[in-house]
Amino acid sequence: MRAFTGGTVLTMDGATAGAEVVVVDGGRIVAVGGRELLTRPDVAGAEVVDLAGGVLVPGLIDAHNHLSVSALHPQWHDVRGVGDRDTLVAAIHAQAAAWPDTAWVRCQGIDLMGAGAGITRHNLDAAGLDRPVIVADYTLHQCVVSTAGLDALGIGRDTPDPPAGEIARDGSGEATGMLVEQAWSVAHARSMADFTDPDRWAEHVADRARALLAEGITCVHDAACAPEAEALFATMVRAGTLPVDVVGMPHPAALLLNEHTARLDGPPTGEGDDRFRVGAVKLFADGGVAIALDARVGGRPFRLGTLFGDLQEHAVQAADRGFRIGVHAMGNAGVQAMIDTAGVIARRHPGVDHRFRVEHAGVTSPAQWRALADLGAVAVVQPGFVQHVGEQASGVRFDDHHWLAFAGLAGAGVRLAGSSDDPCAPSSPVWGADLGVLRRTASGKDFEPEQSVPFTDWLEAYTVGAAYAGGQEHERGSITPGKLADLVVLDRADTGARVLQTYKRGALVSS
Ligand SMILES: [Zn+2]
Repeated sequence: MRAFTGGTVLTMDGATAGAEVVVVDGGRIVAVGGRELLTRPDVAGAEVVDLAGGVLVPGLIDAHNHLSVSALHPQWHDVRGVGDRDTLVAAIHAQAAAWPDTAWVRCQGIDLMGAGAGITRHNLDAAGLDRPVIVADYTLHQCVVSTAGLDALGIGRDTPDPPAGEIARDGSGEATGMLVEQAWSVAHARSMADFTDPDRWAEHVADRARALLAEGITCVHDAACAPEAEALFATMVRAGTLPVDVVGMPHPAALLLNEHTARLDGPPTGEGDDRFRVGAVKLFADGGVAIALDARVGGRPFRLGTLFGDLQEHAVQAADRGFRIGVHAMGNAGVQAMIDTAGVIARRHPGVDHRFRVEHAGVTSPAQWRALADLGAVAVVQPGFVQHVGEQASGVRFDDHHWLAFAGLAGAGVRLAGSSDDPCAPSSPVWGADLGVLRRTASGKDFEPEQSVPFTDWLEAYTVGAAYAGGQEHERGSITPGKLADLVVLDRADTGARVLQTYKRGALVSS
């Protein structure tokens, strides 16, 4: 038994006033109260943990994190920020030398809309390898493959674009090697296959998860959990080697596909336990780089991006089978498709707690905020996106829509769940919360500052909000007797906060 005291306690359950002591035992919170708790006979023998003026909050939950994929990243040569073609060739050689037997040579993290713009298969072919090469974008929504890569994927001059993606072509109609959205899905799955040996994968997941614990994250929602990853997490839980708890959102190994038919025969949303639970099925309404916009700027129409036309069909299938849905929707047209789909499901299955998740909600209008509130939807948002999305988009000011409209959504009554989208953005919740307050882009520009949300609201989004999004509100998200003793000590509850300690089931796991 441990009793935490000597600091501020933010319970996040509306009963913070008077909470000075938190008692945990057997991995659970057993009592919350004033100093008099310490003299209660059953608590008197507890080991006292001095918060030393720090702030005790519930374990933070990253409601949209790609742990199963980010864990693989150390096996791939990191080409973040690379634009120079010779540097890229050297990276490809280094990866090929480190992994001489993999079918694909994979580098990871380039920014094909930034420093890496204009890179084609010819730049990859310059490495002179006979194996296919893939250079994946940091967004996990596009890539460039070598000529051998196009051959391995069976992509030729006459191959049509997939329904929601693009095989980029040059002026003469030849594929450039750039594969966008669903055109990249199979390339991702194929190039990943040699790196998912379960034992090694488990070690990488454990390493990555320990780093998350140091950031105060005690639970993640894996926002695209392939069947192999679900099996891996389950195995790790049985072996007691999974450092954070996981909610796995079922998704095919080939990212960005809405086809879930075989998985829908398996355990539905909610199955599992507090270590690993099945979450909402992950679906896509629009692209991640080709985000679907249908808005106006300066009175003129502003339309672009890719809508995934099969969203409704697959979402309804999942709902009919008892799954909840989480829909990636980045542009306002994507968000509208999500709202329309959720409406269809709500009418088809009335009286059910659907708890629709809209992932990202990148560009939204006030009418959409109200529609999402009416649906009881949770907006799973990424305040850290202010940094890079803000940088790319700060020049685009819509007439009737807003970027990363955290305040607008919350003000309309949409519950926010905090998340990172790691590895597409850094995972640290306090770092993200700072950006959600400050609304400052990578180069220091203000980004729709009126959409700022206060720091303590972000703490709520990363605890109760995220627990609700994951269907875990009965077990975590607040410092309430009966809930799991996953706790974090911050030095303060405002911007610039640092994580001092993380406790999992009452035990110190990071300091
Ligand atoms: Zn994501």
